Amino acid sequence: MTVEVSAYCSCPLCCGKSDGITKSGKHAQANHTIAVDPRVIPLGSAVYLEGLGTFIAEDVGGTIKGNKIDLFMNEHRQAIFFGVKRLKAHLLREMI
Ligand SMILES: [Zn+2]
Repeated sequence: MTVEVSAYCSCPLCCGKSDGITKSGKHAQANHTIAVDPRVIPLGSAVYLEGLGTFIAEDVGGTIKGNKIDLFMNEHRQAIFFGVKRLKAHLLREMI
C-alpha cells in the first residue's frame, strides 16, 4: 500500500505530552517506533517502509487516520525536516 509518512518526536508540540510513552506502553525509539491507525495497521505489526527500513507499530496519533504513518524521531527539528512523503509500505507481520 502507499502511505503518507510524516514524523514526530516526544515533545508537547507533537504529542501534547512529553513522557515518550507510546500507546502500547513502550518508550518510543527513533528508527523503530511508528504511529499508525490501528484499523489499518494493527499495533505490534512490523512494517517495511521503502527506502527507510523496518519499523514497529507501537503508537497512535490523533491525526494518524487511514493510510498514514508517523515516524518517531529524537528531535523535533528532525521531525519537521522530514516533512511529509508518500512511500510504499509493506505489512511484514502482525503480532498480537
Ligand atoms: Zn516535536
